[in-house]
Amino acid sequence: MKIQKIVLPIIALLLIVACSKDSTNTDNETPRVDKSANLRSLGASANDLLSDAKFTSLTIEIVYVTGFKPTDAAINNLKQFLQKHTYKPDGVNVNIRAVASSNLAPFSIEEIAKLEADERSIYNAGDEIAVFIYVADGSNENDEDGKVVLGSAFRNTSVVLYGKTLEKIASNSSSVSKSDVETAVLNHEFGHLFGLVNVGSPMQVDHLDPENAAHCNVNACLMASNIEFGSSIIDMVENRIPELDDLCVNDLVANGGR
Ligand SMILES: [Zn+2]
Ligand SMILES: [Zn+2]
Repeated sequence: MKIQKIVLPIIALLLIVACSKDSTNTDNETPRVDKSANLRSLGASANDLLSDAKFTSLTIEIVYVTGFKPTDAAINNLKQFLQKHTYKPDGVNVNIRAVASSNLAPFSIEEIAKLEADERSIYNAGDEIAVFIYVADGSNENDEDGKVVLGSAFRNTSVVLYGKTLEKIASNSSSVSKSDVETAVLNHEFGHLFGLVNVGSPMQVDHLDPENAAHCNVNACLMASNIEFGSSIIDMVENRIPELDDLCVNDLVANGGR
């Protein structure tokens, strides 16, 4: 009897120690998301996005501020553009959701990067590469009357659209739909993620716009700088959504795309 009374507490104590040790181990083993591959400079993942050498599928996470949801037509057009120029045999997936306003407008790009850190939930994993798009409820703080920014690719897998600016530009024209403007800007920013022009996908022939870094000197090309900076985009989008010209496509092909 005496022995049992002594032994029991010892067993109980051992169990407690074992349990607490187990739970500590579980905490340590909770998978931590490695974000480093998605925090590199613009163009650094051009080949990874274009080819299927490392990543066989692409997931796009679109986070928009309530009221600024991109049109379904623009998202479908973007998917077509991606399927046309990349090799992703396991597909291009879109994950979209609304968030509340940050009340920070107008935005600096540092503020957008901070919002990404708070809101982004999908990072590269296995053979799936992830891109984040934030649709902001305001403008860029550097906008001027004659020159407004519609969107920006600001890291290797990060894009911002200035939703309010985009709506304003589209509503100024009766001949151009909001979805056409969105499509042009989304595709253009992906062109930058693909390393155009000469930022990640080396130029095969010189076609760099001497006045606007990372842009194409072919006037009607999707990568002409007019797409990014308001007003003149209406003329470009009026008759058809601009596409990549042959020189830009050549650069993508040389870097694993099509
Ligand atoms: Zn641009
Ligand atoms: Zn071009």
